[in-house]
Amino acid sequence: MSVFNLRAYDDHEQVVFCSDVETGLKAIICVHNTNLGPAVGGCRMWEYNTDEGALVDALRLSRGMSYKNALAGLKMGGGKSVIIGNPKTTKSDALFRAFGRFVESLSGKYITAEDVGINPHDMALVNQETKYVLGLEGKSGDPSPVTAYGVYKGMKAAVKHRLNRDSLEGIRVAVQGAGHVGYYLCKHLSEEGAEIIISDINKDSVEKVVAELGAKAVDINDIYSQDVDVYAPCALGATINDETIPRLKATIVAGAANNQLAEDRHGDILKSRGILYTPDYVINAGGIINVSYEENYNLKIALEKVDGIYGTLMEIFQQADSEGKTTNVVADALARAKIAAAKK
Ligand code: NAD
Repeated sequence: MSVFNLRAYDDHEQVVFCSDVETGLKAIICVHNTNLGPAVGGCRMWEYNTDEGALVDALRLSRGMSYKNALAGLKMGGGKSVIIGNPKTTKSDALFRAFGRFVESLSGKYITAEDVGINPHDMALVNQETKYVLGLEGKSGDPSPVTAYGVYKGMKAAVKHRLNRDSLEGIRVAVQGAGHVGYYLCKHLSEEGAEIIISDINKDSVEKVVAELGAKAVDINDIYSQDVDVYAPCALGATINDETIPRLKATIVAGAANNQLAEDRHGDILKSRGILYTPDYVINAGGIINVSYEENYNLKIALEKVDGIYGTLMEIFQQADSEGKTTNVVADALARAKIAAAKK
């Protein structure tokens, strides 16, 4: 495999392959870009089928963090790390401490945090070896409510742009995933009088949203074809694909999930069908914004910064319209321009 020629490599500054025989640690730390500041991005633990799969995932996620942090207006670059292994069976204290030593060896060029498969206890172990950790318990805490607030604000921007409505009252939203972010998003939607349709593989999570917020539950396979204004993916990535797009009745896609488009070309297909796509890394930046205020944490100040997601999205929507481009292409170009300008 030619690493530098990988499509996902995309001008990464540094990739560190970490191996510790004693603890069985195999990890990859990707530093995409540090023009705006240290590369910040979570650590994911996943049982990848191949090492190549782990590398490509880490590279794509790390570039995504550069773009997310740039458009959120943070003085942070983008990076990400993956630990290769089953998060249910291969964790140990020694493994996370070994990972922490690798993070420390980069002297702050990469700052880690929680991601899929990692919990606060794991990060506390990493923190025993390095101070370059964000989102620790007792500091900014669980970012999900703030992510949900940003998604709610971003959805309002999309509804204003596509439907010319200032309020979500009466707007019908199909929310996929009633997890940490999905639940709090539904609360905001309910408070503003939106109609919520919910699906989740976890029945208890669905029942909570139905009982507390009066949502209507549907089967997980039926969420795409609901007669709604907005489809809000808040579970998995890649749910916008060849199979699902023809089923969408919504005219807006706005949700929390990362990597919503299976491929970039799905942004073109959404556009050709008159569906407004709200770029995922712009609308879901609330969590990283929250974490960026970890020192002297103040929720009010963090939320004020998250409010900026509305204006950023409006700018992207308007530019996409005037240039006849897709919103994902415009967002990527804006992010790259900000990163390049920071170097100058
Ligand atoms: P979570 O694990 O708490 O919730 C995800 C929910 O999706 C779970 O309840 C799960 O049962 C459900 N789910 C899984 N497969 C499903 C399916 N096929 N259909 C319907 N539901 C399904 O995760 P979260 O923290 O709420 O994050 C949701 C998404 O937002 C993820 O893609 C995550 O990467 C992204 N995100 C989260 C944050 C954050 O602050 N938590 C920040 C940025 C992006």
